[in-house]
Amino acid sequence: METPQTKTGIKVIIVGAGFGGLTAAIECYRQGHDVEIYESFPELKTLGDIISFGGNAGRIFYRWKNGQIAARLRELSIDLREYGFRIHKWDTGEVVFHQITPPQKEDAPFFNGHRGELHQVIFDYARDELKIPIHLGNYVTDYFEDENSAGIILKTGEKIVGDIVVGADGVRSKARELVLGYEDKPKSSGYAVWRAWFPNTDMLADPRTRQFCENGDTFNGWIGPEVHFLFSTIKGGKDCCWVLTHKDEHNIDESWSFPGKLEEVLEVLKNWDPMCSAIVEKTPSLVDWKLVYRDPLPTWTSKQGRTLLLGDAAHPFLPTSAQGATQAMEDGATLAVCLRRAGKGNVPAALRTHQEIRYERVKAVQKTGETTRDMWHKTDWSKVKDDPSSIGFPREDWIHDHDAEKHAETVFDEIFKKHSGIAGKESTSSSHLSIQNSANSVSVAS
Ligand SMILES: Cc1cc2nc3c(=O)[nH]c(=O)nc-3n(C[C@H](O)[C@H](O)[C@H](O)COP(=O)(O)OP(=O)(O)OC[C@H]3O[C@@H](n4cnc5c(N)ncnc54)[C@H](O)[C@@H]3O)c2cc1C
Repeated sequence: METPQTKTGIKVIIVGAGFGGLTAAIECYRQGHDVEIYESFPELKTLGDIISFGGNAGRIFYRWKNGQIAARLRELSIDLREYGFRIHKWDTGEVVFHQITPPQKEDAPFFNGHRGELHQVIFDYARDELKIPIHLGNYVTDYFEDENSAGIILKTGEKIVGDIVVGADGVRSKARELVLGYEDKPKSSGYAVWRAWFPNTDMLADPRTRQFCENGDTFNGWIGPEVHFLFSTIKGGKDCCWVLTHKDEHNIDESWSFPGKLEEVLEVLKNWDPMCSAIVEKTPSLVDWKLVYRDPLPTWTSKQGRTLLLGDAAHPFLPTSAQGATQAMEDGATLAVCLRRAGKGNVPAALRTHQEIRYERVKAVQKTGETTRDMWHKTDWSKVKDDPSSIGFPREDWIHDHDAEKHAETVFDEIFKKHSGIAGKESTSSSHLSIQNSANSVSVAS
């Protein structure tokens, strides 16, 4: 079991055990806070399909149990060192660009794998190894706060009170109502994604598709007008996964995830490279996932500064950014540092400092989801001919090289001054401790 920082006495209640909530809980534990999670699902199910984590998430994972959690995630993740990413023109099928996978940094690895499987690793680490209480089957019906505390009300009517409540309750967040003071529904982004994950049996039986499952992991993309189709094989070619982003104007009031219809996918692909249909027709079942969009919220912090929105609840991402879960994780690492540096007597200023540290960065990363989608959906093929790399998936250093924990330690004092009204004074007695930590940001001993 890991040893956390000196205890801060701050009680943090987190709603939601997605990657955002779990990371916030683990980071709060590391930074010495008392933390528990309330989650509506009654049991963990390995739901979903492919999810990506950039090096900026890998750096957070790597600090958990001295690299052991990252090693567990690696076992489950795609390995594209040999194959890279092959980008095809939608109609001819020709490979227009072969993007080489950058080398993994040991302390900032990136991962792509099955959402449910990776989630299970993090969940087990939090619950079984760190012993963080995770209360499953607890739907939160309401949120409340005053100057000195914040709390939640469960469906059973039970009230739970802490120093801070973190609404890591996803894209349809209920915590958002308390924070904003009004109901803010997500809008359709105008796009949806069909997505599927299935075993390779039928792919191996077809000579056209066998190549993707016989030689290790693969990743191919077909780029066309207003549509892109990404296909990967993982675990040495055993599992297959594809996502197809397309225009969709459906109303998303009721739900944003439905069973998908294969015939609709094949209709979209009818004039495409026949390889795309050869892959898709093997799919036993698929999901039609509507991509919701939200204008940046004016704030993630409640009026009294005791309730904070985190992850998708604060900022949903488009998959073309490949950063939704990673940014949720950066939120968690930042928040935990801010709370420790501010101390129990300064929780509202800690939350406002957290928001200021995160807000502009998140907005800029969010934007990359749109720019990459538009770059692919409105490709200028003559430009690609001159410069094939222009169609590559952008992998920007300012996103991936970011160290959320270290950054929070570095900028904390300057920003906290503005929110605490204690300019010039030491923020708390723990700030001496935290300066030591920023020099050696792996602050947890196993
Ligand atoms: C089932 C599922 C499958 C997904 N699959 C993929 C995928 O394949 N690929 C991909 O890129 N992204 C996927 N995502 C989204 C991705 O996981 C998130 O965008 C990202 O990880 C941000 O995480 P988050 O913790 O902010 O939100 P989420 O992962 O949405 O987690 C929010 C959590 O809050 C819980 N919750 C919500 N309301 C309440 C309430 N009132 N009371 C108690 N608990 C509540 C939810 O049950 C959920 O577990 C999926 C999300 C879910 C929930």
